[in-house]
Amino acid sequence: MKSTKPTVGFYSITGCAGCLLSFIFNEKEIVQMTKLVTIVSFPFIHESAEIKEVDVAFMEGLVASPEDEEVLKEVRKKAKTLVALGACAHTACIPGYRHFVPKDSYARLMYEKLHKIKTIEPGPIDKYVQVDFTIPGCPPNKREIIKSVVNLCLKKQLKNYTSPVCVECRRNNNRCLLEENRICLGPITRGGCNAICTNSHFECWGCRGPTDDMNLPAFIELLEGKGFTKRDIRERIIAFSGQKNPKVLEVLP
Ligand code: SF4
Ligand code: SF4
Ligand code: SF4
Repeated sequence: MKSTKPTVGFYSITGCAGCLLSFIFNEKEIVQMTKLVTIVSFPFIHESAEIKEVDVAFMEGLVASPEDEEVLKEVRKKAKTLVALGACAHTACIPGYRHFVPKDSYARLMYEKLHKIKTIEPGPIDKYVQVDFTIPGCPPNKREIIKSVVNLCLKKQLKNYTSPVCVECRRNNNRCLLEENRICLGPITRGGCNAICTNSHFECWGCRGPTDDMNLPAFIELLEGKGFTKRDIRERIIAFSGQKNPKVLEVLP
């Protein structure tokens, strides 16, 4: 008898595979999930050369080569719903930093054989195809992934956390790192990670991307008032989410 369970595929293009690994390590929950869905494809576990039709596709990684673009477009064609999984897919993340660096400044450092690899301008997946939902973060929280799979399969509407990281950080009674003269991107970054970095006294680097209503000029003014240069601020903001924050380049050329 044909299964009536929704079909789900996990796919990966350029990235470190950390998004999928963060999820894979929870074997018990994956087994529980298979009671609800049929997993058609999952790198490292159940891969097939053919990209099959699925109800929901999760795509990890950014587009950095013509092959990535091809795979992504094929997955988009075969999926009813496409979810960007993790910061590389969402913002282009650290690998997308190349977008901001003139090739002349790093070409001499590349291994000879790497010159033969065909690359294209690195970019988040929504630069190439329509994306229906995003699970942000580098890596994303595994509970968030599981919750999204379950909700998508139950045809429930998915919602992203929209408040900045500072809301969760203050709720956790953390001492504010800005008061210690450290660049923390919590005020302009979308939360939902329970301020995991600042809980451990590390600065937020903005891996979940900018909030929709951030006040960038006010944040820059605050940091400049603390003695940081435009360059310090620019470099920090573009590290994880520069491509989702084009205003940064206007305000901090
Ligand atoms: S978002 Fe982070 S963990 Fe996921 S593939 Fe990119 S670099 Fe790796
Ligand atoms: S430490 Fe960072 S996230 Fe926490 S309140 Fe201060 S600016 Fe916001
Ligand atoms: S605190 Fe910032 S850098 Fe850390 S996980 Fe949350 S959004 Fe990402």
